[in-house]
Amino acid sequence: MSERTYVMEGGVRCPVCESRNIEGVDNQFTATGAKQVLRCERCESVWVETYKLDSFKITERGQTKEEFTAYLKGTLIPDLRDGGRDATADDFATCLRWMED
Ligand SMILES: [Zn+2]
Repeated sequence: MSERTYVMEGGVRCPVCESRNIEGVDNQFTATGAKQVLRCERCESVWVETYKLDSFKITERGQTKEEFTAYLKGTLIPDLRDGGRDATADDFATCLRWMED
């Protein structure tokens, strides 16, 4: 079976004996995608499928760095000034997390 046929079918058959009796035995994510090791129960061939990262969709959006900075300028600093309180450890930890990322 050609690689093209294998991919077009969605990887449902063994590329050697064409049996559908195959199973994933291992998988791992890499920097640019993922790999899955498969094994055929009939002929005992083993092969690796590779998946490429090609898109993403944000399903829950947090604040951008710019928005967070604006938030700090708009709330935290006036809070400190008006409330006369010192910044807490949490305030600093939050700022540091942004700077380190
Ligand atoms: Zn096979």
